Amino acid sequence: MIAEKLHEVEAKIAAAKARRAKDLTDDVTLVAVTKNHDVAAMREAIDAGATQVGENRVQEAQGKHETLDRTVTWHLIGHLQTNKAKQAVKLFDLIHSVDSEHLARAIDKEAAKLNKVQDILVQVNVAKEAQKSGVMEEDLRPLMGLCDALPNVRVLGLMFIAPDYEDRERCRPLFRHMHEIFLAAKDISWKTSNIIYLSMGMSHDYEMAIEEGANIVRVGTAIFGPRQY
Ligand SMILES: *Cc1c(COP(=O)(O)O)cnc(C)c1O
Repeated sequence: MIAEKLHEVEAKIAAAKARRAKDLTDDVTLVAVTKNHDVAAMREAIDAGATQVGENRVQEAQGKHETLDRTVTWHLIGHLQTNKAKQAVKLFDLIHSVDSEHLARAIDKEAAKLNKVQDILVQVNVAKEAQKSGVMEEDLRPLMGLCDALPNVRVLGLMFIAPDYEDRERCRPLFRHMHEIFLAAKDISWKTSNIIYLSMGMSHDYEMAIEEGANIVRVGTAIFGPRQY
């Protein structure tokens, strides 16, 4: 069942890639979002070809990391509290949700202790939603500049969580605008940052996100079914 749904999503990703404008040529990485699904479900997805998993809570990921007898790339997609930075740096290959100087510095400090350079994305609140995490667009450049100067952090791109609009087409201009911001960030000559990833699109809008330039999509429900809370 999970295998089937995973392959369905992969096929839809391929079709969305084919619909893109000619200048959008990036490969698209699928992160299977396994939050609130157990290790058995994770194994099923991995055995069916998933190579990337996304979790939104450090503690949950930690337990799964200990149990999961498979090699996979770990993405932290949820909001990260500074006091969890130490565990996050131990567990995750890519942290998508950096949105403050305070958090960036905490990650840098913990990564230094482990002799690791932590790959991160900066989360942008391009929809300017009051309750959402993510840095405001006008604060993005200074935050990226700060991260670029931190020795144990490497910025690989940007992340965006679209608003919950009923009419998903209202998200399209936001995805498009994120892609413009991504291209502008790519153009800057950073010291250590290497802006290659634009992470946006979830179960109900990943095809649209790909059409507008996403090259990482984070899909849970469409692969694993509804989450049990
Ligand atoms: C849960 C979550 C997803 C996946 O959501 P689905 O709608 O289940 O595909 C993607 N990104 C983030 C940040 C999430 O928290």
